[in-house]
Amino acid sequence: MRLIEFDAKQLLRERGLAVPRGAIYDPAKPPVVEAGAIKAQMLSGGRGKSGLVKLASAEDFRASLDAVQAQMRTLGMEPLVLIEEPISIAREFYLCWRIDDVRQAFTLMFSQHGGVDIESQASTIAELVVDPLEGVRAHRVAKFLRDAGLDSRAIGPVTRFAVAAYRACEAEDIDFLEINPLALTTDGEVIAVDAKATLDDHAASRHSKWNSLLSAQLQASGMTPLEQRAIEASCTFIELQGNVAVLSTGAGLGMAVVDLLADAGLSAANFADASGGAPSQVFGTIRDLVYERATAPEVEGILMFFTLTATSLKSVVGTILDDIDRMPPPKPFVAGLIAAGAAEREMTLAEAQEAFRKRGYACETSPEAAVAALKQAIAARGTRATDEVSTRDQ
Ligand code: GDP
Ligand code: MN
Repeated sequence: MRLIEFDAKQLLRERGLAVPRGAIYDPAKPPVVEAGAIKAQMLSGGRGKSGLVKLASAEDFRASLDAVQAQMRTLGMEPLVLIEEPISIAREFYLCWRIDDVRQAFTLMFSQHGGVDIESQASTIAELVVDPLEGVRAHRVAKFLRDAGLDSRAIGPVTRFAVAAYRACEAEDIDFLEINPLALTTDGEVIAVDAKATLDDHAASRHSKWNSLLSAQLQASGMTPLEQRAIEASCTFIELQGNVAVLSTGAGLGMAVVDLLADAGLSAANFADASGGAPSQVFGTIRDLVYERATAPEVEGILMFFTLTATSLKSVVGTILDDIDRMPPPKPFVAGLIAAGAAEREMTLAEAQEAFRKRGYACETSPEAAVAALKQAIAARGTRATDEVSTRDQ
């Protein structure tokens, strides 16, 4: 889950990191400060350049607040605004902790040239990969910052900040934390003037408070009803604009099917995934969501594809066929199955294909063939529909 600045800073504050004093503006109460920063709270960045962050004096505070909220409404956003005490910034750094997914290790990124123009300063960002077995060591961070050109007086406070930020990531299951700018104040203190963070959704069960974050509400308000139901059932379902509803689980296979559809001139109407396998209840939810997605007028077909190695083919096919018998799929349907090893212990792939064919549905054993069969089924239905119309017209 992506966090808005306010939620990210709240987590940092709880972990002892320096962030400006501030609060979400509540029209029913006087603002926490009479002058300072007025900052739009939203899930995307680049606010500084689009007038969504304003520094206001006591005289122009009200006008600036109104301007930021008005601009947010124009952009179709809820006018959620963070108000903070002013920070007297001497220098702006860029600091980021992220997980390098190839190395599978936390990585610290740092540049002395932080601020709104970091994109043009990308070549100045240095990286320190943390050995997961060793963890973060302050002396290594200090040396890294010195090598990155940070002047000696700032090394101490920035090192302390970076190490504490890493501890916060570990404790709060933050998998991405970007502080830009990390400010060095005119008093020599280091403080997070901005914060972007994402939480590792797989760790949600460890953090009951995540549900009550403002970011969670904001995220939910931007989702479709089907997407919200998926979240409640702890699976992933994302609506896409295409014409084929895809019943498949597993991120890799799901993405491959989306690509194959595109190659065949079709397009996926959803992406579904149940990370860590699909227990039957989660599978049931995904199937319901996919079928409901398929009832939309723009969706012309349903593609099912599973690869099974451990889960019994018989149990999976049995569940799907029971469903089909009870309630036929709302649009042309093609099954695709790959099974090997223990999956075939109770039913062979050939038997599974036969079971689908008996009910009038193609069952293919490669993703390419399944996509081709679906394309044909959609075309056939199109012709039939045209025939029906022309028969009626006569
Ligand atoms: P972003 O553009 O969405 O990343 O928004 P930021 O929160 O990073 O704000 C953009 C810029 O506004 C920062 O780089 C700072 O230069 C400036 N800024 C934000 N808050 C303050 C503040 O409290 N005091 C001062 N002096 N500058 C601030
Ligand atoms: Mn920023």
